[in-house]
Amino acid sequence: MKQLRTHLSSLDGLTDAMVQQTTDWALINSGTPNLDGIARVAAAVLPSFEALGFQAKTLPPAAATTVNRDGDIVPLTRGPVYHLSNRPDAPKRILLAGHLDTVFPADHTFQYVHLKGDKLHGPGCADMKGGIVVMREALRCFEASPFAGEIGFDILFNSDEETGSHASSPTHEHFAQKCDVGMVYEPALPDGSLAGARAGSGIYTFIVKGVAAHAGRSFHDGRNAIVGAARLITAIETLNGQRENCTLNLGTIKGGVASNVVADLCLVVLNVRGRTPSDMKWIDDNVRGLIGSENFGPDISVEIHGGVHRPCKPNEGGTLALFEAVKSCGAELDLNIAWAPTGGCCDGNNLAAAGLPTVDTLGVCGAYIHSADEYALKESFVERAKLSALVMMGLAAGEISWPDRV
Ligand SMILES: [Zn+2]
Repeated sequence: MKQLRTHLSSLDGLTDAMVQQTTDWALINSGTPNLDGIARVAAAVLPSFEALGFQAKTLPPAAATTVNRDGDIVPLTRGPVYHLSNRPDAPKRILLAGHLDTVFPADHTFQYVHLKGDKLHGPGCADMKGGIVVMREALRCFEASPFAGEIGFDILFNSDEETGSHASSPTHEHFAQKCDVGMVYEPALPDGSLAGARAGSGIYTFIVKGVAAHAGRSFHDGRNAIVGAARLITAIETLNGQRENCTLNLGTIKGGVASNVVADLCLVVLNVRGRTPSDMKWIDDNVRGLIGSENFGPDISVEIHGGVHRPCKPNEGGTLALFEAVKSCGAELDLNIAWAPTGGCCDGNNLAAAGLPTVDTLGVCGAYIHSADEYALKESFVERAKLSALVMMGLAAGEISWPDRV
């Protein structure tokens, strides 16, 4: 590994350029529903990878549905998945993944970037436009090394990671089957730690329907969907605490039109988390079982939309071997790479569930993501690009053994 380090010197001194590139991309709003903004980010990002010899393709989003405010299940509008690849005949392939979207809608007030001390504040600076810059510079360094011809890359940039990758996870699962290692550029923690095991997650929308009526003239003809939803919520809440590591969070509720109308519609959204596949099955069975067995009131119907969309990501087998390889590369660079389990999820969950050994926090170090305090640590840009490039070189040069697929 020591002599591989000599090939990393082209990354020295790039901090300012990487910070500037991140700033330029972060100033383009790309909240998940802002398809124009996502297309503009793609138009800025893709040519800089094509310049490294990658072929770009735009893949349409997979069909997915959502529930609209009227309680109807309708098609979900999402941006495409952008795929870049090189050396299609290479015997070993690395899948690199990032997302172009952020959690900040176009009308959010957090639309500026500023460097304060060692922190680059801005929407997506850590999650993950800074990560995409790290990925690109690592690739630039790798592609100029003597090992470049040994392996090929597939890169996926999706447009809907922040809302659960409902229209992109089939594409991730497809390429996960064709590759040998997954590297995802979500941010690491400020101390450099990576996310190890990840929880699984599911989102359920309950469409509770009753019968509308005037609250004064014909109250008894009405069937109140809000009351039905209250019974449902109480039943769901009884599941919390029944099984360790399983949580069910009632996130939003919307129902009713006016105080003098018996509400005929109420929408309840639930987010669930568990640590193992059997946790997720327990949650799913129990949530669906409630709908079949409970009575929410006469003439009240409850329909479920959604389910588990992020399978659990245990840190074991090939994934753990890959973590160990990243740690040993970190040691070569005087970086102490640790990892800890998290309740958060990302595309790494879906890649690992498809059998691909995956480390998913190879981006910049940063904190307060998904808030207006988000920042990326300036000094982590070059350091993390070196880490990724060394992992790529280690695999390509045979210094790191390719981990077994799960
Ligand atoms: Zn992210």
